[in-house]
This record gives sequence, structure tokens and C-alpha cells, in this order.
Amino acid sequence: MKFYSTNNKSYQVSFEEAVLKSLPPDNGLFYPTSLPQLDPSWLQNLKTISRVEIGLKVSSQFIGDEIPYSRLEQIIEETIDFDIPLINISDQIAALELFHGPTWAFKDVGARFLSRCMAYFIEGSSEETTILVATSGDTGGAVASGFFNIPGIKVKILYPKGKVSKVQRMQLTTWGGNISAYEVAGTFDDCQRLVKQSFLDKDLNEVMNLSSANSINIARLIPQSFYYFYAIQQSESDHNVICVPSGNYGNLTAGLWAWSMGLSIDRFIAASNANSVVPEYLDTGIYKPVPSLQTYANAMDVGAPSNFIRIMELFGKDHCKMKKHISGFSLGDDEILTTIRSCRNMNNYVLDPHGAIGYQALLKNLKPSEQGIFLETAHPVKFLDVVNKALQEPVNFDEKLLNFFNREEVYQRATDDFPSFKEQLISKLS
Ligand SMILES: *Cc1c(COP(=O)(O)O)cnc(C)c1O
Repeated sequence: MKFYSTNNKSYQVSFEEAVLKSLPPDNGLFYPTSLPQLDPSWLQNLKTISRVEIGLKVSSQFIGDEIPYSRLEQIIEETIDFDIPLINISDQIAALELFHGPTWAFKDVGARFLSRCMAYFIEGSSEETTILVATSGDTGGAVASGFFNIPGIKVKILYPKGKVSKVQRMQLTTWGGNISAYEVAGTFDDCQRLVKQSFLDKDLNEVMNLSSANSINIARLIPQSFYYFYAIQQSESDHNVICVPSGNYGNLTAGLWAWSMGLSIDRFIAASNANSVVPEYLDTGIYKPVPSLQTYANAMDVGAPSNFIRIMELFGKDHCKMKKHISGFSLGDDEILTTIRSCRNMNNYVLDPHGAIGYQALLKNLKPSEQGIFLETAHPVKFLDVVNKALQEPVNFDEKLLNFFNREEVYQRATDDFPSFKEQLISKLS
């Protein structure tokens, strides 16, 4: 399978090139030249097929023989070596819990698959690769965990000081080994700018082989489509509505790919916090990206979602067609808190702020004949302050999770000034 740039259909690359480049040079995004159709009889037997086999079937459609079958099987086994259960919350609503991986958010799935594909492609190269990544919260931890101890790769993560939760920060700063963390005195946008400038800087590129593990990398989306199959596999209904709490819209893109490959999903709900450009587009047909607003569901604080263009691509930029399959929903901060509280009181289930938006969207939208599934994208312990505020009392979490807080943090302070950041990166080399 080849992947084209959404800005230029005749610019086409292999899976390997799409993974290693992350982005086409024309600033488009890589998109598969066709979405494969899965065999209907295979899909009918979904309930009997193992999770690894599903992953192999789906990903091999995109990857072909660029990674040998047995190696791909190993990559998938390692990617999903944790549970992805569908948990009934109420009669009509279930949560697909995507937080049982090492950094307690769905981004582990994409980051583990990407890191292992990259490791395969650079194997045998004598040069060390340095991955630079800016994070607003969950991506950095998943990337750190995904690449931890992978030979030939160093990871440098930039995060904005004071703007990530304590758990998120600790998942960046407590690895050691090939992972280093930089606490930048600035915003997430400043972190992103420093990364972009580094990629463009001639001196840096001479001394380091820089690469990115960007959330728009195709190798993160492909494995994210696996768990939509796992959701349907575990559902007892034939009329499933899947609700995806969304920020950059990668997760929803992966779900739409699963559906367009033949997976039976009746419709999708794109659920956002106050950053509601996509729900507004679905309502009005007008797409107007804006600066992001800070909310309690901070992993979804995105004003100009990068994967939206891929969703447009899937529907041939046809607003009516998109609206037939996806509806929008948006929830404010106060309602996030009341939803967390009422769901705990009614169902004895503690939501995280992102999942709360998904759950509320289903409560408001489901028809009696439908079964609702929302993606519970992170464990509530990752957003402890918000959850405690919502419940008005501290929650008791598993001892195992809380042990994590004893780990030692190591990080370097950096300013948002590029020349000094560059100096800092280079001085570390000698
Ligand atoms: C990244 C993230 C999201 C948003 O996912 P997108 O694929 O960017 O739409 C939602 N919830 C959590 C917890 C996340 O970490």
C-alpha cells in the first residue's frame, strides 16, 4: 500500500517512508491510497478471532510485506499486551477502557506500535536516532514508554511548565535511560515551536539524526483502529453507536477507517470540550479553526485539529455525507464535573474528564434501539485534581497505581528561546 499527501495525490510513499518522515514535505498528511475492504465472512466471525489476529489482519492490509509477518505479529503482541475491556456502565452505555497500558491512556497503543515499527526500519543503521517531541500531556508519556530501552533511539520530550498534571509530568520525568525530559518555561505552542525550529536547524541536523513521533504519524493511527474491532467483538448489540472524545481527531479517524473497512458500526459521535470546531462544522458546514481554550479535559484542548483533514479526505470533503455518519457534541467544564459526579452516584463508575464528555454525549443522543459505546481514553487517576473536585472527596485508587508517586523525577529546565535550547541540546552531546 502506498500513502499519498493530502496536498498532492501524486506524491506517494511506502509505509516505511511515511513512518520515518511522519509528514510529507508539502505540509499535508499521509493518507492510504485506498482503504482496504475486509472479507465479510471474516467479519462475521469476529467474535471467534483473537485480538492479535485482528491486529494482523487489519495492519497487514496497510503494511503488506514491508514488515515480515512474524515480526509484525511480535510487534502487535507487544503493542496490546494489556486488556481493552468493554465495561457496561448502564443498560444502554458501555465504556471501552483504553487505559490499561503503561501510561494509562489510549496513546500507549499508537506509541507502542510506532516505536516498534521505527525500530524495525532503522535496525542495522549505525547512526543513533534522536526523537524530539513536544507534549501537552499524554503523548509524551506514551512515547517515552513506547521507546524506553529501544536500542539506537534517544527520546527528548518537551513539556510546558505547570501545564501538565502531576501524573502526566511524572510519566515524562521518571524514566531515565534513553529518555530525557525538558521542562520549558512557556506554553505547549512554545514547545512545539522549539521542536519545529530544531528540525529546520542546519547545525543541529549535522550533529543529530532527528526524527519525530508526532501524533499524526500513520503508524499511530493504524493500531488505533484495532480496538474498534475489539469493542464490537465484545458488544452484545447489533446496533452500536461509538462516541469518541476528540481533540486532534486521530482516534475518530482510526474508528472511521475500521468502519469503512467493513466493521459494523451504526454511527459515530464526535464529542468535544469547549473546543468545538468540528461539532460546529458538522452543524453548519463551516470549518473555522480558532486558538485553543484551556479546559478540564486538557488532552482535547485543540483549536485546529490536525487530523480533521483526514476525515474530510474520507468523505470526499462532502459535508452532507459526513453528517450522515457523524454527529457532534460539546460539553463545558461545569458539566464535565457534574457528569463525573452523577455517573459515580448512579453507576458507581468513576469517569475521567474526557470519558465524561463521551458518556454525557451518549446519554443525550442515544435512541432506544441503540447501544452506546464511548472510548474511555484515560484512567481517572491521571486527572486526579479534576476528579476529586468533581466528587468533592478524594477517591480511593488502587495501591499499585499510587506506588507510582514514589518514583524519582529527573528533568532539565529550558527557556522558550531557541538559541539557548539548541545550545543545551548540543552541549549534552560532548
Ligand atoms: C489525546 C487524547 C484525547 C484526544 O484524542 P485525539 O485522537 O487527539 O482526538 C482524548 N483523551 C485523552 C485522555 C487523550 O490523551
